[in-house]
Amino acid sequence: MNTASCVGIAPIIEPAVGATAGLDRLGDEIAELSAHLDAATARLLDLIREFDARGGWNTGFCSCAAWLTWRVGLDRGAARERVRVARALGTLPRLAQALARGELSYSKVRALTRVATPETEERLLAVGRAGTAEHVERIVRGWRRVDRLAEAQETARRHKSRALHVYPDEDGMVVIRGRLAPEVGAVLIQALSAAREALYQKAHAQDVPAETSGADASAEPPTMAQQQADALALIAETALHHGIDPGAPGERYQVVVHVDAPVLADADAPGQSVLDDGAYVSAETSQRLACDASRVVMRHDPDGRILEVGARTRTIPPALRRALHHRDRGCRFPGCGLRFGQGHHIRHWAHGGPTTLSNLALLCRRHHRAVHEEGYTIERHAGGELKFHRPDGRLLPEVPSPATVPNDPVHALYTRHETQELQIHPRTAIPGWLGERLNVGYAIDVMHPLAMRRLPQTMS
Ligand SMILES: [Zn+2]
Ligand SMILES: [Zn+2]
Repeated sequence: MNTASCVGIAPIIEPAVGATAGLDRLGDEIAELSAHLDAATARLLDLIREFDARGGWNTGFCSCAAWLTWRVGLDRGAARERVRVARALGTLPRLAQALARGELSYSKVRALTRVATPETEERLLAVGRAGTAEHVERIVRGWRRVDRLAEAQETARRHKSRALHVYPDEDGMVVIRGRLAPEVGAVLIQALSAAREALYQKAHAQDVPAETSGADASAEPPTMAQQQADALALIAETALHHGIDPGAPGERYQVVVHVDAPVLADADAPGQSVLDDGAYVSAETSQRLACDASRVVMRHDPDGRILEVGARTRTIPPALRRALHHRDRGCRFPGCGLRFGQGHHIRHWAHGGPTTLSNLALLCRRHHRAVHEEGYTIERHAGGELKFHRPDGRLLPEVPSPATVPNDPVHALYTRHETQELQIHPRTAIPGWLGERLNVGYAIDVMHPLAMRRLPQTMS
């Protein structure tokens, strides 16, 4: 290739032969180092996959990607993509190996892992080896179109099959049988486990046998299936009690806690801490709910009779909340920054902490729980900065300590690959493409398992 013709402005003098050779060497060096970086990326993804699987990020971060953003400085999109590719490569050994040998670029592997399955991996690896990054991108786009079509049909079929049958059995019991869409099922399962927990913990908290077990109160504890049945009853009663209207999102999850004043001030103090429907919650949870809530103070006498009901007030008045959002912008937990949050009293109002900007910090739901119920602590220093500590007392730094990098990282990388006997040279990642025109539709028709079985005219 004539290097001069590639440049927008043609140089007046042809570069000397020595200069051309120098540029060739430069190009080779770029290609070789790129292949080395891809090989190193494979190692990085292996480490991320293990760290993710072993939950190493679960020290107050909501995901492995959030941890990567904080520790490594990747932007959120790139961090999520690394984790996704790392997980995908766990089941795609051929693609993983091609990356580890520097034969396939990270760009190509990233694109291929969007569609590859163990079943199609080999064919897609061939695409990666033969084509340029642009070819790979186009094939993957077409491949996904076929996948989406199949998925849409599958979703429609599943949605149509939703059903719930409720009918009396011969002995008068009522039988329930049904199929729910996955997201509806998830809500039901969550509601059942919440109700089960409420019934179970209530029975324990009051230290009396659960009344739902009726006549066999003295017998062994109810089985899981029996508990589920009791939980469903509680859910039905709750729905009828509150009306079927789920309400505005803000009200939907509103929780009223009846709590004795000593409990709010000290989690270990004796006293009751119950939700409006009578479900028992831990003192830590009631402190969290009370941190930022509508507050109705009900004073109880020693027998539990209500003596006095105060007016309903917001713990954090709207103007102060606006100021808090303006100051904090998002969750203050290191590495989080989620936009929406709850106002947390650094010193709880029940302990005499004031509801002022300097005693408040915005925390997302996840991290508000971490602070109240999981042992994380916040301190506010004179300058206004917040210090977060892990449950074991170690500081959770806002900025992580920098990684140690050798003086000559490229040389270190080359040496390391040499000791691993990796053969990487300037042509390691070169595609097999010879310049033919790519027919994406045809390529997918012959390779995609669904396109092969079904109508090829879905692809243009
Ligand atoms: Zn709080
Ligand atoms: Zn957060």
